[in-house]
Amino acid sequence: MSTGSDTSTPTPPMAVLATEVAALRPRMEAVSLAIHGRPELKFAEFHAQELLTDWLAEAGFTVQAPVGGVATAFAAVHQGSRPGPYVAVLAEYDALPGVGHGCGHNLIAAGAAAAAIAAVRALPDHPGTVAVLGTPGEEMGGAGKVLLAEAGVFDDVDAAMMFHPGDRSLTTRTGLAAAHLRIGFTGVSAHASISPWLGRSALAGAQLFLQAIDAMRQFVPPTVRLHGIVSDGGQAPNVVPAYAAVDLYVRDRTATSVEALLGRVRDAAEGAALATGTEAMVRETGPLYAERRDNLVLAERFGAAVRALGVEIRPGDPDSPAGSSDIGNLSRLLPVIHPYIQIADTGTPSHSGAMREAAATPLAHDRTQVAATGLARVVTELLTRPDLLAAARAEFAARAEAVG
Ligand SMILES: [Zn+2]
Ligand SMILES: [Zn+2]
Repeated sequence: MSTGSDTSTPTPPMAVLATEVAALRPRMEAVSLAIHGRPELKFAEFHAQELLTDWLAEAGFTVQAPVGGVATAFAAVHQGSRPGPYVAVLAEYDALPGVGHGCGHNLIAAGAAAAAIAAVRALPDHPGTVAVLGTPGEEMGGAGKVLLAEAGVFDDVDAAMMFHPGDRSLTTRTGLAAAHLRIGFTGVSAHASISPWLGRSALAGAQLFLQAIDAMRQFVPPTVRLHGIVSDGGQAPNVVPAYAAVDLYVRDRTATSVEALLGRVRDAAEGAALATGTEAMVRETGPLYAERRDNLVLAERFGAAVRALGVEIRPGDPDSPAGSSDIGNLSRLLPVIHPYIQIADTGTPSHSGAMREAAATPLAHDRTQVAATGLARVVTELLTRPDLLAAARAEFAARAEAVG
């Protein structure tokens, strides 16, 4: 980590950054559409990884792929001519089962590369380090960022940033803590007609468990989200299922609250198992996603840049419904931002077919161009304004102190 005092380099004007990103638009759009057209699920994003690293290598970045022991991760690094801050732009590029790029990660990825390339082109003699870190497996509890952080990939990073497409433009937004669970029920198989009484249905255990979760819903705070699917309901109707499983997410405002709820979820599983003569096993399928702490200093710098480009953006209502991301875990380690840029009509749900279609439109790429310019602005400001990094760090430390 560097103290990064380099007051001799002026910050590039917005117009220069906008011109650089505009020049990258054709490649950015092509990469985005190529990723969109070939959706890859968590930790299988080899095509996206190749598209992004090829582009960044051509632009003069030193590419390491894989990195941190994650096959589809990468680090593309542009080393400056002298010491300074290490600023990372994060790229997500995984899709959703059945929905494809209904979260628009194709735009995040292409926009991240464009932002970093534009920043180093506008500031060829920059201090410090500019990197694009490819962080796969954000959906479905993959926790790619957590795996990379545990492997030390973020150890030297002073600040990290990304943008996310959505149905509104927000500099900050609540991100809930989330636990990702698989509750497996083990019963006894038997012929479902000749001798069902010799069996014990694991599916019955799973069903009763889901009913217990539904019964719990009224008796948890309104901020809690409990939602799941039957991920295994047996093999055939004429066999009493010996195994069944429910995949369940438990979310709330804080990791502390989620951890407390896990005890009640375990009790519900035990109760359902007892009632159905089965056995339940509750397992976390990945790391708990922590709640998000957007760095307010850097979020406002991004907001100012986006507004200067003519797009309205404001802080999110902290009480609005929210999802979760592994950026939350990173936000406990270093200053990060995760702003949103509107690419679809307000009210368009994320993780939907409508958002998938929106993520491939000219408007989506216009807005990604704006977001990439905004990120390039924050990157170059961090490299050239030691006071900004100091303020971001002070705010990070104050939040960490307040939350504990
Ligand atoms: Zn997403
Ligand atoms: Zn998503």
